[in-house]
Amino acid sequence: MAARIIDGKALAARVRERIAEEVTALADEGVTPGLAAVIVGDDPASTVYVGMKHRASEQLGMLSRQVELPADTSQDELESVVAELNADEAIDGILVQLPLPDHLDPGRVQELIDPAKDVDALNPYTAGRLAVGDPTFFSCTPYGVLLLLEEAGVETAGARITIVGRSNLVGRPLANMLTLKGHDATVTIAHSRTRDLGEVCREADVVVAAAGRTGLITADMVAPGAVVIDVGTNRDDDGSLVGDVDFDGVSEVASAITPVPGGVGPMTVTMLMQNTLEAARARRGGRA
Ligand code: NAP
Repeated sequence: MAARIIDGKALAARVRERIAEEVTALADEGVTPGLAAVIVGDDPASTVYVGMKHRASEQLGMLSRQVELPADTSQDELESVVAELNADEAIDGILVQLPLPDHLDPGRVQELIDPAKDVDALNPYTAGRLAVGDPTFFSCTPYGVLLLLEEAGVETAGARITIVGRSNLVGRPLANMLTLKGHDATVTIAHSRTRDLGEVCREADVVVAAAGRTGLITADMVAPGAVVIDVGTNRDDDGSLVGDVDFDGVSEVASAITPVPGGVGPMTVTMLMQNTLEAARARRGGRA
């Protein structure tokens, strides 16, 4: 069997088109969604990511503000910047690009972001709201995975879904989303201490790989006809971008699979834009 490729790039383009239309409609009401990205230091990968978010928000007609701080910014200074953005009426969404330099406490900074503007969904309040089944914002990467599953025609209700990885960024919030009423999946979360990862994956209708380990998921670990979503973004020996899934081997067994690049990646920034739009609407009366 040759798996169908789930095209994240094409899906992201369609979602962005819809977001742009909604931003235009909001503009008629005098509202421009505003996103502020704070970056501390000049980590090359972070600079690229923040640049992508900046370009995406501008292309969609949003207000985009980049706050660039020197690497020796103190915790107090960073917290003051977040407080100013919390109070800034033009800003609907705030993200602080991670990783921060070692002397700064990312958890404390995330906690200070106003939950109404927490479009990256990393504030423990936002994560807690999701965990108790009353979500505000969905974290961007797992939100993208939900849309990719929908695109693949997966009926999550009753489906057995194995998520490999339990991070607060991907695995844990995704498990909380998929078990919400309305999504109703039966979720298994695997991690580095899981005994017999292959068995746990083979039981699943859907495998989501989010471990950050090149080639971790091989064909023998996937049930025939399963859907495979590869969140992993790792660098190969030659520097190219690869996922956690042995794409060629698994494609022979799965019914549908996301590629890397071109799968989950394009959806992550797109869902940040979606959250910013939702934040703008919610702050001006009623949730989106
Ligand atoms: P992370 O914080 O390092 O978490 C990795 C998780 O995978 C941990 O729970 C770890 O288990 C588990 N794990 C590691 N090795 C394993 C193994 N051999 N078997 C089973 N589980 C294993 O990483 P993350 O931030 O969640 O990111 C995961 C991957 O997704 C990375 O490649 C990252 O670059 C990528 N990512 C991509 C996007 C995107 O937009 N495409 C966004 C976010 C992340 P323990 O908890 O036991 O250590």
